Amino acid sequence: MIIQLQQGIPAELKENILKQVQEIGYKANEVVTQQAHYLVAIGKKEFDIRQIGQLPGVADIHRVSEEYKLISRRWRVEPTRIDLGDGVMVGEGNFSIMAGPCSIEGEEQVERVVAHLVENNVKIMRGGVFKPRSSPYAFRGLGIDGLKMFHRICRENGIKIITEVMQVSQIEEMIDYVDVFQVGARNSQNFNLLDALGEAQKPVLLKRGISGTLEELLQAAEYIFSNGNEKIMLCERGIRGYEKAYRNILDLNAVPVLKEKTHLPVIVDPSHGIGLRDYVASMALASVMAGADGVIYETHYTPEKAFSDGQQTLNFQESERLIKRMRQAYELRESF
Ligand code: PEP
Ligand code: MN
Repeated sequence: MIIQLQQGIPAELKENILKQVQEIGYKANEVVTQQAHYLVAIGKKEFDIRQIGQLPGVADIHRVSEEYKLISRRWRVEPTRIDLGDGVMVGEGNFSIMAGPCSIEGEEQVERVVAHLVENNVKIMRGGVFKPRSSPYAFRGLGIDGLKMFHRICRENGIKIITEVMQVSQIEEMIDYVDVFQVGARNSQNFNLLDALGEAQKPVLLKRGISGTLEELLQAAEYIFSNGNEKIMLCERGIRGYEKAYRNILDLNAVPVLKEKTHLPVIVDPSHGIGLRDYVASMALASVMAGADGVIYETHYTPEKAFSDGQQTLNFQESERLIKRMRQAYELRESF
């Protein structure tokens, strides 16, 4: 059960609600987010919800039986929209394009990608400075100095930054240089990291785990929300299967199903999803048609020379063509 408290509720009223919740045998967690103040009450006993609903200080109340509650569409029917500042919104009513290299490699590279994005009116650049790599001998990113350089060039050009955070201790050093923290597939169930990002008050793009179910993804998002951060986007990036012909199985079924289960925006990453440059655009367009709120993909001026994931990275010509086609596809979808 979720109880939304009135804004600025006096302590005595809150105490009274808590007392009544305990009396019916429920255990309550208090959650204060950017937008609201909730009590998430967990229990099994049947009772008339109006008993609590009518108490002074209660703004709204609903029974939600899933393991995830605050991110559930049953609780909040209105879709969540995330404001990244300067008019950049993610969520219903907007189609967000996030593009950039797999890894940030240097100043010239960032400048060239930024120029490509500006030319195409793309407002969000991706790029890793802390890279999770399967092999310890692969390029692992430029680290915090690379992020500062990435941030300076993006700020000079009105571009927002999404980049991966791999561990709790990085949050503090990164936070002033990031607009969206990405949680990578390998960290999708790093519950300490999710807790800490819940307290961090910065938007988060949470990727689905390599073999993660949608239920697990939703519960991971609930970790962030229940620690006080509502600004969450979910990302389908493909799951591990037995097929060897492509990198992952991009599960586009996830898009409508997630949109039905949660009010959070759903973004698709076709680059990691299929892992083959020639087919990234097709899967991106299919994602738009499946109902995605945005697409995140990899682009580089010379993909064959990229420090990581060149095999799935679009050159600028391919990227420009894709941007135009995704916008057309989105308009078509919205006209249905
Ligand atoms: C990435 O976005 O470059 C990345 C490592 O993604 P994932 O966590 O989905 O593998
Ligand atoms: Mn990559």
